Amino acid sequence: MGKKILVAGAGHGGLTAAALLARAGYDVTVLEKQPREALGYDWPDCFVPAVLREIGLTPPPAEQMRPMGALHYFSPAKTVHIRPPQEKLSKTVFYIERRDLLRHLCALAEENGAQLRFETPVLGPLTQGVRVTGLRTQTEELQADLVIDAAGMDSPVRTQLPAACGVPREIRAEDTIFTFRAIYEEQAGSSGLPPSCSYFYHAGSCGFDWVLHDPAGVDVLVGAIGGISDRIVDTALADFRKDHPDLSARLLRGGQYAKIPLRRALVQFVCDGYAAVGDSASMIEPLSGSGITQSIRAGAMLAETVLAAGEAPLTVARLWDYQTAWFRRFLRRQLSDDASKSFLLEAGERRLNLLFEKRVLTEKELCGGKQSAADLLHKATGFLSSPSLAPLLVNMLRRQRLTETLAKTLPAQFDPVQFAKWRTLYESF
Ligand SMILES: Cc1cc2nc3c(=O)[nH]c(=O)nc-3n(C[C@H](O)[C@H](O)[C@H](O)COP(=O)(O)OP(=O)(O)OC[C@H]3O[C@@H](n4cnc5c(N)ncnc54)[C@H](O)[C@@H]3O)c2cc1C
Repeated sequence: MGKKILVAGAGHGGLTAAALLARAGYDVTVLEKQPREALGYDWPDCFVPAVLREIGLTPPPAEQMRPMGALHYFSPAKTVHIRPPQEKLSKTVFYIERRDLLRHLCALAEENGAQLRFETPVLGPLTQGVRVTGLRTQTEELQADLVIDAAGMDSPVRTQLPAACGVPREIRAEDTIFTFRAIYEEQAGSSGLPPSCSYFYHAGSCGFDWVLHDPAGVDVLVGAIGGISDRIVDTALADFRKDHPDLSARLLRGGQYAKIPLRRALVQFVCDGYAAVGDSASMIEPLSGSGITQSIRAGAMLAETVLAAGEAPLTVARLWDYQTAWFRRFLRRQLSDDASKSFLLEAGERRLNLLFEKRVLTEKELCGGKQSAADLLHKATGFLSSPSLAPLLVNMLRRQRLTETLAKTLPAQFDPVQFAKWRTLYESF
């Protein structure tokens, strides 16, 4: 025991791994650039509290969580409105303030013996050849047996790893949704629309926006793939105010820009002495989100691999168990979401309207649900009824086949030659 673990960033996954490893007696230090009180964002998030219980940690107190309503979906032209199959509140997913959840995870890490150092920006990794040996801050060079990268999608650790480590350094702008999120005061006025409305290609921008009515106020998200500007946000807000007269211009909270990786996980997220969790490895489900829950799960899976390694050095071959466990559990789900995301992007605004109108896209695709043979037949007919839709179907079927091949050929052990083939296939998705 006595291994030294450094965690870059007090993200959800890093704090989870820190709590579990410190509890097992490891010497764990988390380095976070923000002051303690400024950690996270000033808005609530969807979260599955049961995930903490599953991994042996206490969930936040029940009074910090509130139920959330289901989203209604609108086509880009707003002519088709898809209602969720049931308006009942979810029994597993709750709304929690991000700062409350992060405070809770920090407390768990500290109670179990991890050291949290705030206002300590990590500048980059320390490396010897392809091995990560520690982290560099403004004032120190800290050595470790393992660096856990929980510093988000622009992590200065991942982006400065030597190329020979095999971990991709960049997450492309085309694979990123750039967001603006703000909570405005609710004013008098009624739209007659449901409380939670979401829009694809809203106001001419390629992305996903929402307006949610919450006790905290009217919660607005503007999300644009590839890049965002004040003009995109102003256009979206102006359009929302036409449809939702109760959306005032008085900002209560948030009003921040932030990014979300919107792609399948990086093909490799471990190397000698290094493992990434959460957004730094792009572990989000590209359509359904759940980045926080996925990050916490990843932190627990990584801790399990580290504990199983005992005294052995944390080489890429050992840490591979974490990577494989993660892909075994989430590869199919994440690729299915990634394929749906690519489908929506490839469709573009005009064809997406057609897909909504022909009921090829329904509540079953958007909210989940079993497809019957009649549903599938109806969709196939819908696709074939317009020549412009057929290429979308071909690409979707190709990605489905590729998913099966990738799931079957996932290398269980680290074998650079075998992995190189899998890597090429995965990157072609
Ligand atoms: C608008 C918006 C809405 C979202 N809504 C939801 C939702 O409802 N539910 C959900 O599950 N997910 C949601 N997400 C996604 C979610 O935020 C991420 O997937 C999740 O936070 C990833 O956690 P993480 O562990 O990777 O760390 P992150 O939350 O990315 O945290 C990284 C940490 O590293 C720190 N850091 C960065 N650089 C350095 C450095 N150089 N040195 C030291 N520290 C550093 C940061 O300050 C931060 O504290 C949303 C994201 C956005 C932008």
